[in-house]
Amino acid sequence: MEPQLVVVGAGPAGSTVAANASGLDTVIVEEHPEVGSPVQCTGLVHPRVVDMASASETVINTITGLKLFFPGGRMLEIPTDEPKAMVIDRRRFDELLSSRAVDRGARLMTGHRFKGFERIPGGLKVTLEGPEGLACVETPLLVGADGCRSSVAREAGLGPCMEVVRGIQVELDVRLEDQGKVEVYLGNKVAPGFFAWVLPCGDTARIGLGVSNGHGAPSGYLSALLKRRGLDGTRRTALVSGAIPIGPPKRTVADNVLLVGDAAAQVKPLSGGGILLGMRSAKVAAAVAEASVANGDLSARSLSAYEEGWRADVGKEVERGMLIRKIFVGMTDKKLDEIGRMMDREDVRSILATGDIDYPSRLAAPMIKALPSLLKFSPFAIGRLLRG
Ligand SMILES: Cc1cc2nc3c(=O)[nH]c(=O)nc-3n(C[C@H](O)[C@H](O)[C@H](O)COP(=O)(O)OP(=O)(O)OC[C@H]3O[C@@H](n4cnc5c(N)ncnc54)[C@H](O)[C@@H]3O)c2cc1C
Repeated sequence: MEPQLVVVGAGPAGSTVAANASGLDTVIVEEHPEVGSPVQCTGLVHPRVVDMASASETVINTITGLKLFFPGGRMLEIPTDEPKAMVIDRRRFDELLSSRAVDRGARLMTGHRFKGFERIPGGLKVTLEGPEGLACVETPLLVGADGCRSSVAREAGLGPCMEVVRGIQVELDVRLEDQGKVEVYLGNKVAPGFFAWVLPCGDTARIGLGVSNGHGAPSGYLSALLKRRGLDGTRRTALVSGAIPIGPPKRTVADNVLLVGDAAAQVKPLSGGGILLGMRSAKVAAAVAEASVANGDLSARSLSAYEEGWRADVGKEVERGMLIRKIFVGMTDKKLDEIGRMMDREDVRSILATGDIDYPSRLAAPMIKALPSLLKFSPFAIGRLLRG
């Protein structure tokens, strides 16, 4: 039977679409032989993500605080007494979500790669490449949940995102002394255009960074960070590298096609975190997919209910994140150090302690109130941020 919905990609976004569109006959196509592998993620999420996914069995560690390092060496420690984030086993997380989608009726085709589509009356003829060669499947609706370098987006003439940050991370066989705090390092010599992290995960630690375009390969920066942290000789148990899409494209729908998750750059521009936004948008996509298939209208105009829905839900925070990112990438190390000096106050640390990793822009107003002199760094952009 030809499916009513084909989802390309069995990451968190694709599996969430399939699980929530359980009223449709759905096929999930995943190019890798196993879901969740290779991992391209640090796995740091707010506890709300674990709740939303009912995935407590994938939690490895709980983070309650932050150590923020400025380029010149100043460190701000921000402890809290509540769980601010959780470290998850990303492979198990993806497996869990995909098995739920299968339990709700989706057919999962691993080892099959989406190659392209052609338009036919009533929908699309989708070409897949599997172990037995090429095969075609006809469907009225295709969801591209195939990550940052989405082939579905390219085929549908959607995208690209505004910017791609290159991420790299190693997992090390070491138990860090402070299991409650994530270390974050800023600076153009450490991680230009992004940041570096050291994350305790019980008996291992994940150490990585992102680098924005035009600054060379991230591996050189990672070697320097490992050396600085005294971990360059420690045994590596995993290497992760991947692209992080920043800034959604203008359109995420076309006739018979929707993009979800990293394929639509539904990612927090400041941290590169995309699991929450992708899963929330996937729920909107599933509802619109069911309604559009039911009424037989799969035009871009009908599917734009999805575009409006996800932007209304998470688009504002993404826009505000883009604004803060623009200010951040323009900063020299000298300016970052000046900000570090200004922030090194008890009242500012208390404000930072109220932060939420999914809504960093909510700190803007209280921070400017406490430190009005921050305005001088970008009066126009900060003004826009405060106006909301
Ligand atoms: C180094 C790094 C660290 C990160 N850390 C975090 C973090 O701590 N917290 C967080 O929230 N986010 C983090 N992210 C981002 C997060 O990994 C992504 O936002 C998230 O995985 C997006 O989910 P997705 O389902 O949209 O896409 P993906 O998880 O990328 O899944 C896409 C799936 O599509 C499949 N696919 C691709 N092309 C095809 C094709 N042609 N045919 C068939 N299948 C295909 C892929 O194999 C993959 O399984 C990180 C990213 C990187 C690179």
